[in-house]
Amino acid sequence: MSMFSDIPVDVGIVYEGERIRWPDTYAEFGGPRVEYKFELVKARGMNEVEDGKITIIGPDLNDLEKKSYPFGIYVEVAGKEIEEELEGVIERRIHEYINYIEGVMHLNQRYDIWIRISKRSFDKGLNSFTYIGKVLYRLFKSELPIIEKIQITFITDPEKVKEKFKEAMETYEKRDARARGLTDEEADAFYGCTLCQSFAPTHVCVITPQRYSNCGAISWFDGRAAARVDPKGPIFRINKGECTDPVKGEWTDVDEAVKLKSGGEIKRVWLYTAFGYPHTSCGCFEAVAFYIPEVDGFGIVHRGFTENTPIGISFSTIADSTAGGRQVDGFHGISIEYMRSPKFLQADGGWERVVWVPQAVIERVKDFIPKHLADKIATENEVKNIEELKQFLIARSHPIIKRWEAAKAEIIEKPPEEERVEVTATPPATMPTTEITVPTITGVTGGFKIVLKNVKIHAKEIKIVRSKEK
Ligand code: SF4
Repeated sequence: MSMFSDIPVDVGIVYEGERIRWPDTYAEFGGPRVEYKFELVKARGMNEVEDGKITIIGPDLNDLEKKSYPFGIYVEVAGKEIEEELEGVIERRIHEYINYIEGVMHLNQRYDIWIRISKRSFDKGLNSFTYIGKVLYRLFKSELPIIEKIQITFITDPEKVKEKFKEAMETYEKRDARARGLTDEEADAFYGCTLCQSFAPTHVCVITPQRYSNCGAISWFDGRAAARVDPKGPIFRINKGECTDPVKGEWTDVDEAVKLKSGGEIKRVWLYTAFGYPHTSCGCFEAVAFYIPEVDGFGIVHRGFTENTPIGISFSTIADSTAGGRQVDGFHGISIEYMRSPKFLQADGGWERVVWVPQAVIERVKDFIPKHLADKIATENEVKNIEELKQFLIARSHPIIKRWEAAKAEIIEKPPEEERVEVTATPPATMPTTEITVPTITGVTGGFKIVLKNVKIHAKEIKIVRSKEK
């Protein structure tokens, strides 16, 4: 039964996680095919917001055909307790609430949103953004009572989307910059978020000043504000407890909180590494850091990158190996803001270990890359495969070469004095320093639970047969 009798389709938590394939799509908004898309929440004064007002700038759903459109959702909120610090947290709820609508899929966040309306729901009468606005209005007002007034604008006019996109990007940068400067050591507590558990049931984001949330939409300040105004909500305070490893980033109470919130599935978390017990990855990450064993370094690929990476696979294939609330050695979901942090992959060597990054990401984080690495990290413009990557790193004297030499020295048995040959800068055949393992695969189907950890399997055929009852 629908939550709202005047909305032509069903609305309920059961639709969260619904995927709409292109053949079943009526129209698509944002997504990888369009450059300009955003969702933005702005805190306003009480007199600046007309409660319940829904505006559509540009053609409405009824006037569109099956295509991808530039799109903006611009939400203005007011209330005595509403402050700028809450904008990011309120904004992240748009993802959750839109996904409650039958036949509407919402992915990602901020400048990266991707929305599809199904043909079936359009045929049922979901033919105007006004319905989506009404659902957002009612859910925001009932779930977050601090919002006293809310007005919502949907923008499909390409010029207007472009204009507001600029404002959105400036707002995101301002929010992110606010959290810079405070260190994890100085913070009295961290914050956790389980909003993505509807897609990745064992995922828990641990948000610290220096490790931004995976989606890049919730900073430590946002987390603090959310936990204060909605203490029973999906964002909560985590006491730090004792720091047992300042390099990898492990705290006793963080481990406890993650264990509790992941239903016991995740027992330890190392915040500043992609190996061992890395932070879990849901599916909303802005980028993935992926280990490249042939050069013992990391590539980083972001959601908007449409070509193949030098390892021959695309963002979506790498994302599939990473997502799902798992801890996968060497595949690590991250936000762009985390790349600006001094704690970025600290235990793995930080930027000194990064060998390949798309140019678009370099542009966004270049002020935070150590100066001596400025021309040593390859992009898609110089490198298309592993062999080209190796040659580039050698030609530019990337510091990763020192790791190759150290690895070779471990492999090559020290020859007698007269036979000793000089070790040249080529990566060794195997990298003894880091072990890559098969991702943890957890499946729960029809009463079976299969957990495979740290295994390598080669089989021509696998049969799972139900044993006969005795
Ligand atoms: S990625 Fe993390 S912080 Fe962002 S919504 Fe999901 S669980 Fe919350």
